[in-house]
Amino acid sequence: MFRVTAGRRVRWRAGAASALAFGCAFLASSLFAQDLFLSGGQVIDVDAREIRIQNLRISDGVIVGTPEALPSGFAGEVVDVTGRWIMPGLVDLHTHSFGNQGPVEGAMEFQGTVMVSNRMLFAGVTAFLDLFGLEDQILFVRNAQRENRTVGADIFVAGPCLTAPEGHCSEYGIPTRLMSTPEEARRNVDELAAKAPDVVKIVYAPEGRLPSIDRATLTAAIEAATSHAIPTVIHVQSWDDVRHAAIAGATAVTHIPDDEVIPDDVIALMLTHGVASIPTLSVQFGVSDLTADPTLLDGPIAQGVTTEVIRAAYRSDDLTPAAERWRLQQIEDGPKVLASVRRLHEAGIQVLVGTDSGNLGTIQGWSVHHEMKKLVEAGLEPWDALAAATTRGAAFLAQNYGVNIGDAANLVILEASPIDDIDNTERIVSVVHRGQIVDRAALGVRPSTTG
Ligand SMILES: [Zn+2]
Repeated sequence: MFRVTAGRRVRWRAGAASALAFGCAFLASSLFAQDLFLSGGQVIDVDAREIRIQNLRISDGVIVGTPEALPSGFAGEVVDVTGRWIMPGLVDLHTHSFGNQGPVEGAMEFQGTVMVSNRMLFAGVTAFLDLFGLEDQILFVRNAQRENRTVGADIFVAGPCLTAPEGHCSEYGIPTRLMSTPEEARRNVDELAAKAPDVVKIVYAPEGRLPSIDRATLTAAIEAATSHAIPTVIHVQSWDDVRHAAIAGATAVTHIPDDEVIPDDVIALMLTHGVASIPTLSVQFGVSDLTADPTLLDGPIAQGVTTEVIRAAYRSDDLTPAAERWRLQQIEDGPKVLASVRRLHEAGIQVLVGTDSGNLGTIQGWSVHHEMKKLVEAGLEPWDALAAATTRGAAFLAQNYGVNIGDAANLVILEASPIDDIDNTERIVSVVHRGQIVDRAALGVRPSTTG
């Protein structure tokens, strides 16, 4: 079902969700959450670009104080993080939370959304946005998490893809919403809006190999979602697609067209219309990067979130023809893609972290770290890569991340500074989610399930 048959202009469209691990039991969260006091950490304020040695007092999932000393009579958990770095939790704005696939025949790891949410949390990703799943199932999983406050990274979902009959997203055998006219777009968005998806995902790629909705249908879908106050994420393939999405009022476009570096007028349009970019460098570089250097997956994060079957696939010389096509194309187009991301950032357009995990070249959870490395390679400073992956991504989901009083207590504690070296985001000591220290050992891959 996940075989990728992508050619030049469609290769990143693969992925997509599948049936979810619906039967997977939710783990009960602690019923008796206690206050937390993080003592003496080097707190990284990614927006103020400042590192402060500060205590953080946390209550009910929120940072409530930065006292000079432990308050007398404090009854909660005290954790000494002297010498450690504290940053906001990571957010992935483009996932397909079914599991992982590798670039050789048969390298598949089915996880499902609930297990993916656990692996994400292991990797320091405290929230993620699934951009195409089985509509009612994935909305049920999200709602169940919100009602029961179960563990795992916070799940946000688009539900289905809105696409043309036989358009991208329809090729995976999973039902999705198909439309050909503005009237059908409005009807579908209205129906979907009643289920309160976190975003509406629309595929628009008229120059691609697969059928696409036309510009009028795109515009109607965006306007309908906007009328329900739901943000839109548009899958694009060419800069023309971005032009049309921007003019129609899209909230964000995802993927970086790779045939040329972003033209000036597209930058101007994105600025004028306030459109954000979710580049997904992870999927656009993943096969080439990971096959060139499989040791990228030797670290504790990748070890903790996926099995040896997937990691070994990147050490293989026997890639599937599709994976080999992706690899060669990524090498050829990579410089243009990085140059476009640099230009977007320098122009002041919001660049946000999303990985397209689920696709070849990505690993659920780990790829957020890869995405930050790629953003730095594109020319962003670590400060900006961190903000793109934390506070700004969270704001896109209307979440208040940060390290200041009033911010959600979703935090990653590191043993080395990610400002000195972005690779240090992988050196996780512990993760704080909803104000509690996460039991990461319970969430990662267990030895009995590897191989
Ligand atoms: Zn995707």
